[in-house]
Amino acid sequence: MTGLPTILGIPFDGQSSYLRGTAEAPMKIRDAMNCDAGDLEFSERTLANPRVSQNEPTIEHPSSSDVLQGRYPAFEVIEDRIARLIDQDQRPVSLGGDHSITYPIVKAFAQKYPELTVFHFDAHPDLYDEFEGNRLSHACPFARIMESGLAKRLVQVGIRTATGHQREQAKKFGVEMVEMRSLPAHGKLMASGPVYISFDMDVLDPAFVPGVSHREPGGMTVREAIAHLLAVEAQIVGADVVEYNPVQDIDGMTAIVAAKIVKEILGKMIVG
Ligand code: MN
Ligand code: MN
Repeated sequence: MTGLPTILGIPFDGQSSYLRGTAEAPMKIRDAMNCDAGDLEFSERTLANPRVSQNEPTIEHPSSSDVLQGRYPAFEVIEDRIARLIDQDQRPVSLGGDHSITYPIVKAFAQKYPELTVFHFDAHPDLYDEFEGNRLSHACPFARIMESGLAKRLVQVGIRTATGHQREQAKKFGVEMVEMRSLPAHGKLMASGPVYISFDMDVLDPAFVPGVSHREPGGMTVREAIAHLLAVEAQIVGADVVEYNPVQDIDGMTAIVAAKIVKEILGKMIVG
C-alpha cells in the first residue's frame, strides 16, 4: 500500500471552452481548507493531516511553435509531476484547474497501475471526440483516456447532459454511465483493483456551487456527493477535484464546498 495522500495544485485553465478562471482555484481551496471558520480540521471521520506539496508547477500556455509540432508542454509538466509523486510512493490529490488536466494525470497513473478503475463525478460525460476542433478540451479528457486504454473501467456518476454523440462514445468505450435521474449509484462504486477518483465540482447542484464554469441545474446535494464518496469500496490511489471557478463564485461559498469534498476524499483515502 502506498503512503499518505499528497495535495498538489494544478493552476491550469487553458483548455476551458467557455470561461477562464479555474487556474485561480487551487489557492482558494487551500485557503478554505485552512480557514478557522470551519470546526472540522479534516474529514468527518479522521483528523489526520495530509502532506502538502509545496512546489506547485508553473504551467505555461503553449507557444504556437509547440502547437505546430503537436506538443503540449503544459500536459507534459503535469504528467511528469504526477509520475514523480507516484514514484515516491505518494498518492497525489490534484486541485484543478479545468478538467482537461485529468488526461495527463491519468496517463501518469496508468504507467504504474495498468488495471486502473476511474470513478468520475460530473454533470457532463466529457467524452467528446473533439470539441470545437480541439481534442484536448476539458470536454474530451475521458475520450482520450479510454481510447488510449489508460483505464480498464470508467464509472461516471451524476451525468445530466449526455448528447447522442457522447452516448455513442460511452457505448464504444464500455463506459458505465449512471445518470443523475438514476441515483443513488452506491453499488457501482466498488472495484477490486486500484481506483482513481475524478471529481468535477459541477456534479453538484449550482445552488450549492455557483462557482463553476458550467452551471447545470438538477445536480447532487453536498450530502449526496459525500454519501457516494463514502460508498466507495476500493483502494484509492489518487484523485482530482476540478472545475471550481472562483470568477463565478458568490462569497467564496463554492470554495468551502470544494474544501469539504477534498477533505472527505482525503479522509476516505486515509481511513478507507
Ligand atoms: Mn468535467
Ligand atoms: Mn462538468
